[in-house]
Amino acid sequence: MIDFLIIGGGIAGLSAGARLSAHGNVTVLEAEDALGYHTSGRSAALFERGYGPPSVVTLNEASASFLDTNGYLSPRGLMLVGGKDQHDVFQKDMAELGVQQISLADAQSRVPILNLETVGYTAISYSAFDIDTDRMLQDFARTIRRNGGSVLTRQQVNAVSKAGHWIIEASQTFEAHNLVNAAGAWVDEVAQMAGITPVGLTPCRRSIARIPAPGGLDLRDWPLMLGAGESWYAKPDAGKLLVSPCEADPTTPHDAYADDMVLAEGLARYEAMVTEPVTRVETNWAGLRSFVADGTLVLGPDPADPSFIWSAAQGGYGFQTAPAASQLVTDLATGATPQLDAASVERLKPDRLRQ
Ligand SMILES: Cc1cc2nc3c(=O)[nH]c(=O)nc-3n(C[C@H](O)[C@H](O)[C@H](O)COP(=O)(O)OP(=O)(O)OC[C@H]3O[C@@H](n4cnc5c(N)ncnc54)[C@H](O)[C@@H]3O)c2cc1C
Repeated sequence: MIDFLIIGGGIAGLSAGARLSAHGNVTVLEAEDALGYHTSGRSAALFERGYGPPSVVTLNEASASFLDTNGYLSPRGLMLVGGKDQHDVFQKDMAELGVQQISLADAQSRVPILNLETVGYTAISYSAFDIDTDRMLQDFARTIRRNGGSVLTRQQVNAVSKAGHWIIEASQTFEAHNLVNAAGAWVDEVAQMAGITPVGLTPCRRSIARIPAPGGLDLRDWPLMLGAGESWYAKPDAGKLLVSPCEADPTTPHDAYADDMVLAEGLARYEAMVTEPVTRVETNWAGLRSFVADGTLVLGPDPADPSFIWSAAQGGYGFQTAPAASQLVTDLATGATPQLDAASVERLKPDRLRQ
């Protein structure tokens, strides 16, 4: 009998699985051929300590040392960029992100393509880092296997029932004491299969275009540029620039792809703030950032059946929160005292959605 059967081979499932594998026998079931095929393979791979609502920032802060100690972070920096007509939204973002305003000349010395005819305000954060997301996924999977667990792909879970313990039907039948729902955009579908009340998840599409290095410049030391009001961002990536329109378009769980018009509008917002035109989009993709109503994660046992454990609603923060989120799932699932403060734990537990 499996102690913890986890549905979903993205960052939510693998990180929880790695932690739980120290406490019992773990099996992860992933529907696709490859781990991280859906949202976890499509992220911008950024850690920014101040990004997200308060309980997400708590998780970011609690995750930082694990990410750093294990060598997953490398310096990037984040530059907030406001247009001349964006004073108020720029000020609001500056306060929320806790970033420091810098002169336009200083900003242009860091990113030479900034257009000072349109850019009015700039600020810098030094608490933004690139995350080695591929290595995180592989390392967590390796930990599960090393602890005697299994990580299985091509295992689409089609039915879940309970007869004292959980019975999970995929390519074969699995039996487990505990079921961990880490199915990303599909968590409410999994809950329904298991007879558990859904949490009201909304998958929201966000897309990215990869463009050649503007002006053929060396981008290695540029910070991520974030348009005020989260209206676009541009991040150096292996000699190219990733540009996102930062859309959050509600949709249904599916294999997401970018909308050409949304991409074009986002690229235009980026282009308005720089001197180099976008000549070509080399490739593009989209992923689903999934949220519940209060915009924060859903972690821990379901109040109606504690053997059904949520690791859900990672939104746009799944990698930067994974070390602390998976620790909390494990603490709550094993009855340990959570390492996070009690108020944050209450804001993250599924119980809050059932009152
Ligand atoms: C464009 C974009 C940029 C982002 N940038 C960042 C960033 O910079 N930093 C950051 O921290 N986060 C970022 N994110 C968010 C981050 O990628 C997500 O929060 C995270 O990947 C969600 O992980 P997950 O494991 O919950 O979902 P997923 O990776 O989607 O994994 C869920 C898995 O469950 C499987 N599954 C579903 N149903 C079943 C079933 N019935 N049977 C078996 N398997 C099933 C799916 O196949 C899927 O592989 C970004 C997201 C996007 C889209």
